Amino acid sequence: MEDKALISPLNANGLSEETPVVLVVDDDKGSLMMAEAALDSAGYRVVQASDGLIAVEQFKQHKPDLIIMDAIMPNMDGYEAIAEIRSTEAGAHVPILMITGLDDLDSITRAYDEGATDFLTKPINFFVLPHRVQYMLRSNATADELRKSQAKLDDAQRIARLGNWEWNVKSDVMVWSREFARVLGFNENSRQGSWSQFLEKVSENHRFLMNQAVQHSIEEATEFSYEFAITGADSREKIIRIESEPRKNDTGECTCMLGTVQDITEYTNAQKQIHDLAYYDLVTGLPNRAQLYENLAYALKVSDRLHSQFALLFLDLDHFKNVNDTLGHDAGDDLLRQVSDRLASVLRESDVMSAPSKDAGTKHTVARIGGDEFVVLLPNVTKAVDIAKVAERIGVTVSAPYTIHDVDVAITTTIGISLYPLDGRDAETLMKHADVAMYHAKENGRNGFQFYSKSIHDHALARFSMERELRSAIKNNELALMYQPKIALATGAAVGVEALLRWNHPERGAIPPDEFLPVAEETGLIVVLGQWVLKESAYQMQQWIEQGLGAFSVAVNCSPAQFTRGNIISDISHALEYSGLDPKLLEIELTENLFLNNIDKGIEILKSMKQLGVQIAVDDFGTGFSSLSYLKRLPADKLKIDQSFVKDLHVDKGDSAIVAAIVTLSQNLGLKVIAEGVENQQQMDILRGFNCNEVQGYHVCYPLTADEFAEWLSDQNTHFIDKVSGF
Ligand code: C2E
Ligand code: CA
Ligand code: CA
Repeated sequence: MEDKALISPLNANGLSEETPVVLVVDDDKGSLMMAEAALDSAGYRVVQASDGLIAVEQFKQHKPDLIIMDAIMPNMDGYEAIAEIRSTEAGAHVPILMITGLDDLDSITRAYDEGATDFLTKPINFFVLPHRVQYMLRSNATADELRKSQAKLDDAQRIARLGNWEWNVKSDVMVWSREFARVLGFNENSRQGSWSQFLEKVSENHRFLMNQAVQHSIEEATEFSYEFAITGADSREKIIRIESEPRKNDTGECTCMLGTVQDITEYTNAQKQIHDLAYYDLVTGLPNRAQLYENLAYALKVSDRLHSQFALLFLDLDHFKNVNDTLGHDAGDDLLRQVSDRLASVLRESDVMSAPSKDAGTKHTVARIGGDEFVVLLPNVTKAVDIAKVAERIGVTVSAPYTIHDVDVAITTTIGISLYPLDGRDAETLMKHADVAMYHAKENGRNGFQFYSKSIHDHALARFSMERELRSAIKNNELALMYQPKIALATGAAVGVEALLRWNHPERGAIPPDEFLPVAEETGLIVVLGQWVLKESAYQMQQWIEQGLGAFSVAVNCSPAQFTRGNIISDISHALEYSGLDPKLLEIELTENLFLNNIDKGIEILKSMKQLGVQIAVDDFGTGFSSLSYLKRLPADKLKIDQSFVKDLHVDKGDSAIVAAIVTLSQNLGLKVIAEGVENQQQMDILRGFNCNEVQGYHVCYPLTADEFAEWLSDQNTHFIDKVSGF
């Protein structure tokens, strides 16, 4: 009785409260009886079978908790019976104790192969049999628990789309859960692989960076997490989040990483949707007011740091209400969508105006902030005229006709512009001022634009129309050259002319170069202008030579923009080729500004210019940064003393000292020297006293047309030798 209690299954931990059923299978009646007696007295219910066939039947009927199976039996032996039972769902995990002959190693091995849980050899010790049975039932209960919790874990992982993995860094064996395999698209039954097999699943543009991140966390033995994309079986992109922790050995070295992967595609999409709802306008898909203000805050920060400027354009559609009222709201929405498409395309094309190096990260924004109101943020703009151009282009683009629901619709827009930092240093003020400017523009008749600041507005408009007119001036041959003679002080002989550009405007008359050259330089029009001046003046000089007027030189002014925006070297050689002029009769006048940014580059260009055989004069000398060290390196032939020093030469001691110094300096450097802006005889006398080589100015001659110059030349001997000699 005590024995029974001791091994009673009812007392055993983890076993069911019901009496366990044991199926005993043996063709030997004696063994069956002995086994039944032993098990029965230990509290088990016993079911018997005398061969394999009966055993399978009994198993199906009684669902025993354990089977004791003899190996050798008639009809169906124990091995076959085990195989049969194991193949059923109920029999997959039932513990089976196989009874084999003593020392029969082959049959033991075979028993395990067929699915036996354990074995006993004959002759059986019936006293220990119940103990063995109890032990097997207990361990099966534990295994059962394990199977159940594994199944729960699998379910949980499947529901969360979260798999786990463990990677032995040394052996490069990576083991993983079923859900890991599912999430990453491995075969569902695969349970292990290598790190590189895993990496192959990661989309190419994330692979390198993610691998770097994990290598780093192995080296530092730190946690790591990363989000990457993979292409799912349906060839759609999935977003995966990986998180991992290192496991260290005694020396603190990371030997193993374990972690999770989770499919966060839906979560990410939902996040994006929430973001889109908060930051985009539903009708047009443009950024909304919230996003505009965020971008504005960013632009303010960047512009403040870089000391750059930006512009805010406030647009309002004129009479938009009419469209809504007459064609309905759907048509109104449709129009708004078409307008926003056009706005976006104008802005894409205008991208060139912002220098990308300086404002990396800040991009223009087109936002819809209300019914028919749009705002454009133009980052990093330097010139009002550029902003005016964008505004004008927006106006033109928006007012082109629309077809809405088969109806032709015309609409215009009015734009107000505020500038950071001029018109405000915070978002609210800039928005308010752009709005105010827009109302002013409406008052002035719709379909236009208006800067908040009046002076900026006038300036931009003047520049704007100047540029437009200059373009047509080039086309319509309104540009002409005047020639101002230069004479040698020693002999009074004409030694050359300076070509000076004029714009004969059909309405405004002659416009002096100081008024239009800055616009031409800003816009790059100077390149074509300069090419024309070079060609025309070289050609004119060659004509005079061929007409027998004598061989003297023509000086041509060149702006720094012709060097930076164009290729002046090829412009000069083209002009020489075209005219046939001897290169040494062409003199290029440059100011020191050319060397302001990069002296070495400037000298480089002058050297290649010298290789063409032309002469080089430094114009407006004395007003720049004329340092002696750079002057020595400059491959120039001539210095042209700026007229500001010549102006008061005869009354101001300081000026005359400067002029004397420049003359001496150029003699020492082996350069020729010319004074410009000579307006009277006193100046001329002083310059001759200093041994200045040449003079140019109203006292010698005003700039002349080509015809006038030919005439002047023929009688210059009689007129000007007098002046030179002082009579
Ligand atoms: P600049 O090179 O210093 O040219 C001399 C300027 O002084 C010319 O003015 C000329 O008409 C003026 N001038 C000549 N003699 C006297 C004088 O005795 N007294 C006074 N007060 N002025 C005198 P302009 O023609 O109006 O040209 C102004 C500037 O425009 C030039 O200054 C030059 O920098 C630029 N420029 C003229 N033509 C061209 C051109 O074809 N290309 C480029 N890039 N610049 C040009
Ligand atoms: Ca000049
Ligand atoms: Ca000058």
